[in-house]
Amino acid sequence: MVVRMRANRSKTGKRRSHAALTSMRSVKCECGAPRLSHRACYECGKYNGHIIIDVVARAKREARRATRKEKDLRASGQQTESKKEEPSPST
Ligand SMILES: [Zn+2]
Repeated sequence: MVVRMRANRSKTGKRRSHAALTSMRSVKCECGAPRLSHRACYECGKYNGHIIIDVVARAKREARRATRKEKDLRASGQQTESKKEEPSPST
């Protein structure tokens, strides 16, 4: 059986010559953290000098969610990450 429309190696290579990915462009924020260009900084929440993301509120929200998750895990009787039993060093 012959595949009539089969592309040869040359044709495949020519098509794939445009398929390469480029690396992400990262720039330095005014706070010093690396960030993607044309994106708000994840560390300080600023874009072009303006505050876009409320980082304090985000930190509070994440902390609240962590404590709630911990509470739910403890209520369901599963072992939580912070309260894992550590083996005693001696005895
Ligand atoms: Zn920043």
